[in-house]
Amino acid sequence: MAYSYDDQNIFAKILRGEIPNQTVKETDHSLAFRDIYPQAPLHVLVIPKGAYVSFDHFAQDASDAEILDYVRLVGEVCRMEGVEEDGWRLISNAGRNGVQEVPHLHVHILGGRVLGRMLQKQD
Ligand code: 5GP
Repeated sequence: MAYSYDDQNIFAKILRGEIPNQTVKETDHSLAFRDIYPQAPLHVLVIPKGAYVSFDHFAQDASDAEILDYVRLVGEVCRMEGVEEDGWRLISNAGRNGVQEVPHLHVHILGGRVLGRMLQKQD
């Protein structure tokens, strides 16, 4: 499948340095930074530097080096932020049904409190 990427999205602007961010760690291929509206005591976003819309896009088109760098950074952030013992959650929203707001792949790392059920019940 061919994915289309909008380079005017907010995370593309962060990567170009047009918008500031609170960086947790930057690597060759990835950036971890704090979410501007944290939903938990720990709320870090991890994005690849490459132009990927979603996790499925990344899994299809990213190089092995990009994928390795990205996955390793997620684990490193958990250890750096001290949530690996008590537990944490990894979320990646994609597309309309996933209610993805920013069309550049990101995972949310959430922790620091009991996070409750994985999905809200729908009435
Ligand atoms: P999504 O709903 O796409 O999975 O999550 C997008 C996330 O990006 C939200 O949690 C939102 O708070 C965060 N966000 C949106 N704009 C900015 C921004 O300018 N800076 C930072 N650090 N986070 C942002």
